[in-house]
Amino acid sequence: MPSEEEGSAERSSTGSGDIIARLRELRAADAPTHGGRVLSYVYDSGRADLDELAAAAACEMQAVNGLDPTTFTSVAVLEREVVGFARDLLGGDDEVVGSVTSGGTESCLLAVKTARDLWRAAGGVGTPRLVAPITVHAAFRKAAKLFDVEFDAVPVSPFTGTLEASAVVERLGADVALVVVSAPSYPFAALDPIVEVAAACRVAGISCHVDACIGGWILPFWADDDGAPLPPWNLSVPGVTSLSADLHKYGYAPKGVSVLLHRGRDRHRAQYFATTQWPGYPVVNPTLLGSKSAGALAAAWAIIQALGADGFAGLADQCIHATRMLRKEIDRIEGLRVVGRPVGPLLAVAVDESLPPERRVDPHHWADAVRASGWVLQQQPGLLQPDGVRLPHTTHMTVTPVTDSRLGELHSALTAAADAVRGIPAVSPEQVLAALPEGSLPSGAALLESETAAALLSGLGLLGRENGALPDSMAPFLALIEALPHELTERLLTELLARVVEPR
Ligand SMILES: *Cc1c(COP(=O)(O)O)cnc(C)c1O
Repeated sequence: MPSEEEGSAERSSTGSGDIIARLRELRAADAPTHGGRVLSYVYDSGRADLDELAAAAACEMQAVNGLDPTTFTSVAVLEREVVGFARDLLGGDDEVVGSVTSGGTESCLLAVKTARDLWRAAGGVGTPRLVAPITVHAAFRKAAKLFDVEFDAVPVSPFTGTLEASAVVERLGADVALVVVSAPSYPFAALDPIVEVAAACRVAGISCHVDACIGGWILPFWADDDGAPLPPWNLSVPGVTSLSADLHKYGYAPKGVSVLLHRGRDRHRAQYFATTQWPGYPVVNPTLLGSKSAGALAAAWAIIQALGADGFAGLADQCIHATRMLRKEIDRIEGLRVVGRPVGPLLAVAVDESLPPERRVDPHHWADAVRASGWVLQQQPGLLQPDGVRLPHTTHMTVTPVTDSRLGELHSALTAAADAVRGIPAVSPEQVLAALPEGSLPSGAALLESETAAALLSGLGLLGRENGALPDSMAPFLALIEALPHELTERLLTELLARVVEPR
């Protein structure tokens, strides 16, 4: 915690050396962004030269306002070239146009807003539906909430995380504004049946978005284990009307850049907001923001220039090798199993229930133990689907090019952690609920006041920690997320994250 003096807003000028020194000190406490120890959030190409190039490009654009590419014409050129490269890479012909956005969430939000507006323009009235597998990224739930669309979640297989095309097709109707499929899904790396779903959408005249936020910049270079090409998944598939692909993932750009492509100019134009009905400058916004940075756009553009398709392919090869090795190694760890047949550089690990309890490894205890040896894996809670079938809780790993140079160490850490927790049962929901003080659980969550929520969090040992970091052992916390009603966990997590950034 900062001292009175350091925290004071009135404090007079500080030398830039001191300012940067303080920033470095804060950064030193972060999870490491480089070196492959964090297997989610960060995408390390392992190429310091690319990071330096990206930083120099972003710095060049620091003072520019991306709001107006007619005043800052460099922005128009960079965006045009990035969209052009993406279109060629992602199976688009010259009918395909698009925009650079601030990230995956913004691309997804805009895909939904665009489809909703087109649905309305075609005569749709009331609240339209968005049909998507339950594994589709949470950004689409956010979009549904923001843009007043009903989110219709289609269950997937609890063993493989895969979607049956027929389960989507049978839900299509005149009230469906958009169908979303993933290439691949984040939770289980499942490549959805895009050809089948898009074909049905085409016949029904329904928009079909491919969320390739995580796969878009790497699947074009992906080869399956047996060397077979992937089934078609991009804009080359008839019926796919839009596609999102994040440059701040496997485009190795700093955070804040993604592309959203549309089939047809008219569709793209429906994404825009424009108004001349105020006394200020005419506003034309292709994306959600007004004034915006062009830094991440420039960084992404520079990386594309430096790498070209061959450069991306080379980095993808490292991911392919590392993912294949990891999958094999995890499959060999007694008590764990890789979920389904992951497509792309990510995978989910579940308990192997075919073994007797004493030989099973709970993936959340495992992730906690792996973390204790300095590697950060991402725990995913189990989830009850609308059809009553429960998806298992899993541990997620996103593989990046640097992972390939750390495989030996990572393998040792994964194996040792499994040995350390084998046979320890998963934290049960009853167990965590019983640990809560009597009567501490509120009945309704929506109106839970901040102080009440904070008291609950404190009781759980989650508040008041030094720098906002979470406990070393997260398995009980994840079990709590599974045990409590969604409305309540959502409220509590909001409180937790809000308290972390409150002025002290
Ligand atoms: C990362 C991701 C998104 C959106 O994420 P941002 O964090 O906003 O960039 C959407 N879909 C998938 C499949 C993703 O992996």
